[in-house]
Amino acid sequence: MVPVGGRGLSHARARQRLAERLAATGIQDERVIAAVMQVPRHLFVDEALATHAYEDSALPIGQGQTISQPYMVARMTEALLAPGCCSTVLEIGTGSGYQTAVLASLVRRVYSIERVASLWQRADARLKALRYRNVRLRYGDGALGWQEYAPFDGILITAAADGVPRRLAAQLAPGGRMVLPLNGAHGQVLVRLTRRTLGFRHEVLESVTFVPMLGGVA
Ligand code: SAH
Repeated sequence: MVPVGGRGLSHARARQRLAERLAATGIQDERVIAAVMQVPRHLFVDEALATHAYEDSALPIGQGQTISQPYMVARMTEALLAPGCCSTVLEIGTGSGYQTAVLASLVRRVYSIERVASLWQRADARLKALRYRNVRLRYGDGALGWQEYAPFDGILITAAADGVPRRLAAQLAPGGRMVLPLNGAHGQVLVRLTRRTLGFRHEVLESVTFVPMLGGVA
């Protein structure tokens, strides 16, 4: 919880303004807006950047990676969560853990995989300190998924791949959705796949910019 008074209050006000801005830029799902209102984004970036935490922009988190722009976190979360969804979500690319925390406020259980050891460790410490008890993190290559807890109702990838990772698609429950940025001939696009009885439904949502999904661990 953010303490009331002093800096805690100014962060709370800034967060309120951010939530209003997201609603004005087209985020419609009130559950998602409420989650953005709850998660203290300033605790997911370095202290030196905390004053920028409630601007709608991506920020560096070290190792050449970024915490996603709040609009994009909200947009992807909204695209993932069908009404009544989801019980379990797998995220690929934990990064700062911010998107993980937003998801954890909305679904029963979140699994998240990060390939950079130092980011994984910091996100783990942060999410534990903030008492997100329904989150499980793993250090590894997210392209392999997390078979032990599959199938997932939702899979969210926060780094851009050249194609849909096949192992991940196979870990999606029937009716489940995967939201991911894909590299294409004309740049990156955000795509939503929905698992059907036979195959997948593909929808292209919008143009995006994400760091690349890489193989192996670092
Ligand atoms: N969701 C994060 C965004 C981080 S940027 C946040 O809100 O902060 C994307 C992250 O994906 C980076 O941390 C990068 O290291 C990670 N990543 C890239 N390829 C990956 C892979 N194959 N498996 C797991 N993580 C990966």
